[in-house]
Amino acid sequence: MIVTIDGPAGSGKSTVARRLAERLAFRFLDSGALYRCVTFAALERGLSLKDGLGLGRLADGLGIAFGEGNLVLLDGRDVTTEIRTERVTSNVSEVASHAEVREALKGLQRACAVGTDLVCEGRDMGTVIFPQAEVKVYLDASPETRAMRRMTELALSGEEVSLAELVTRMAERDRIDSTRETAPLRRSENQILVDTSGLTIDEVVVRLSNLVPPRS
Ligand code: C5P
Repeated sequence: MIVTIDGPAGSGKSTVARRLAERLAFRFLDSGALYRCVTFAALERGLSLKDGLGLGRLADGLGIAFGEGNLVLLDGRDVTTEIRTERVTSNVSEVASHAEVREALKGLQRACAVGTDLVCEGRDMGTVIFPQAEVKVYLDASPETRAMRRMTELALSGEEVSLAELVTRMAERDRIDSTRETAPLRRSENQILVDTSGLTIDEVVVRLSNLVPPRS
């Protein structure tokens, strides 16, 4: 059984998907973390973010793994906090726009569903990576709600950015994510739309669990 949750930044995907996976006792995949790892490694090595071929090669050679909880390991090193900084966030969409990078990360994502039930979240989970998934959801929320969530998240890690600035940055990230040639963020007809504005995380999780058919 595969449950895909796609949607723009700040729609609540990460928290909701993680909680849903826990509730159902399914494995969880945060696909954004993979693109963030490639971006972090590229910035650290001073690579050009316009060089799709070079970034694809980099992505191919990286050892990305998930540890207990939210832990993200890059070649054995804990980069959980580093990949969530604004520096990575403001560059990740450019890196993720390259077909070579997306191709390099495909196998790793599909391997997560082998022999297990999976809840995964990202931008192209239901459209490209797991088109055969049994349950496909598209989460959305108003731009203000999304920016507010991001602001709270950043404040927790000590970064202060104004709401207006975040609305602008998120709109730019959405624009790049939804207009790129390869695997753009878009809602397909067979994805169930859930608007999370005004809903609590628990309410969204309950709504999504009701979409998952019980095991026979
Ligand atoms: O979900 P998160 O904000 O961590 O994703 C970071 C970025 O990674 C997105 O803005 C997008 O550019 C890219 N991404 C993607 N495809 C996915 C998941 C994330 O292109 N499946």
